[in-house]
Amino acid sequence: MDQELWNQMNNKELLKDVSNGKEVVWVNENLKTAEMALPEIEVTMKDIDDAEARLARFAPFILKVFPETAPENGLIESPFTEIKKMKHQLEKEYNTTIPGRLFLKQDSHLAISGSIKARGGIYEVLKHAEDLAISHNMLKESDDYSIFASKEFKEFFSKFKIQVGSTGNLGMSIGIMSAVLGFHVIVHMSADAKQWKKDLLRKRGAEVIEYNDDYSKAVEVGRKNSDADPTSYFVDDENSVTLFLGYAVAAKRIKKQFEEQGIVIDEEHPLFVYIPCGVGGAPGGVAFGLKQFFGDNVHIFFVEPTQAPCMLVGMASGLQNKVCVQDFGLTGQTHADGLAVGRASGFVGGVMKHMLSGIFSLEDYHIYDLMRDIVNSQTIFLEPSACAAFWGPIQLMKEPATKAYIEKMGLSQKMPNAIHVPWATGGSLVPAEIREEYMHTHLK
Ligand SMILES: *Cc1c(COP(=O)(O)O)cnc(C)c1O
Repeated sequence: MDQELWNQMNNKELLKDVSNGKEVVWVNENLKTAEMALPEIEVTMKDIDDAEARLARFAPFILKVFPETAPENGLIESPFTEIKKMKHQLEKEYNTTIPGRLFLKQDSHLAISGSIKARGGIYEVLKHAEDLAISHNMLKESDDYSIFASKEFKEFFSKFKIQVGSTGNLGMSIGIMSAVLGFHVIVHMSADAKQWKKDLLRKRGAEVIEYNDDYSKAVEVGRKNSDADPTSYFVDDENSVTLFLGYAVAAKRIKKQFEEQGIVIDEEHPLFVYIPCGVGGAPGGVAFGLKQFFGDNVHIFFVEPTQAPCMLVGMASGLQNKVCVQDFGLTGQTHADGLAVGRASGFVGGVMKHMLSGIFSLEDYHIYDLMRDIVNSQTIFLEPSACAAFWGPIQLMKEPATKAYIEKMGLSQKMPNAIHVPWATGGSLVPAEIREEYMHTHLK
């Protein structure tokens, strides 16, 4: 560790544990009220509304090319399900209590690409396609967007490229949607990306370039190649506000699901949301949206692997993306492929600075155990990365730091009314033989 960097850091004791590969929880000492935190951010509710309206304009097109979205009329949305058996299983197996009700937001089952990236990734591709079509006088916002499925539009988009760097799922969302629209799409895949994801993408018509290196390298090369080509657009997972807004729309959608299911979130009924974090765009966007709607009544925790806790080291040290996990002697390697990121997004770190309640880290072996738990208790399949989310509700009432948080926030008496939502970030596209392999993976 660079001594000068180390001297600038907050939370040194905690970061020593992080360096030693220990499981930790960090509670955000910089948390502010939503009323104070939200106006500091350049993006607003109006931007979320704009993103939602854009997705609505594209619904007729999505419905046409992905008929599986028919139940949602061309919107890409996932089920929200109470998981009582899982709650019981976790309480028993981990000797914990989860006061209130436990639900699952199943972005694992989002149409088209089976992960949370179907929100931000697909949204950004659609926005880019819309921008191109409008600037070339082929489209007005009032048109019927099913025209995007026409031969004429496909031919037009074939003159343009879209590129992205990915650990897997972002590449799948960008790749599938770009290819359907007719773009020449190039996905730069890090070494962590699973083979089946690369195979699937190639089958759908995307060009896949493989790297023997981590996510940051794949992004770096992808960005450089794209910037050198005027016909190419780069989806920048580290800095994209567009991507972020696509994720943020989730908050509007889940609010509606709460209403439909008679779930009240208010001062007496706190909401706890736990989201696995990689570079930060997906969990950050969802968290930002939730803060807009539920303010101080929502408490958001991210979850990261002990060997790749990039957001944790950035936020706890206060140095954000100036530090990466390798600075702390960590490998950055993890079985949680969707979370295998060494350096967090500086943009998201800044947005979350005063909004995030905290971050948990966990060792890799838990994610397979938790995956077996959710399969066996609820017959819901999630990919291992997504199962990191369950670590939040398991640890919340066990860890002294989060117990102190609950006390300090005046929530102790309200916990029996709490709603806990682990955010299941991916899984439905995992092939049967890989699921079988995961079911038999025991790291400890
Ligand atoms: C991408 C991903 C995440 C995290 O999203 P980031 O934007 O990288 O933070 C979590 N889980 C899964 C399964 C993912 O694919």
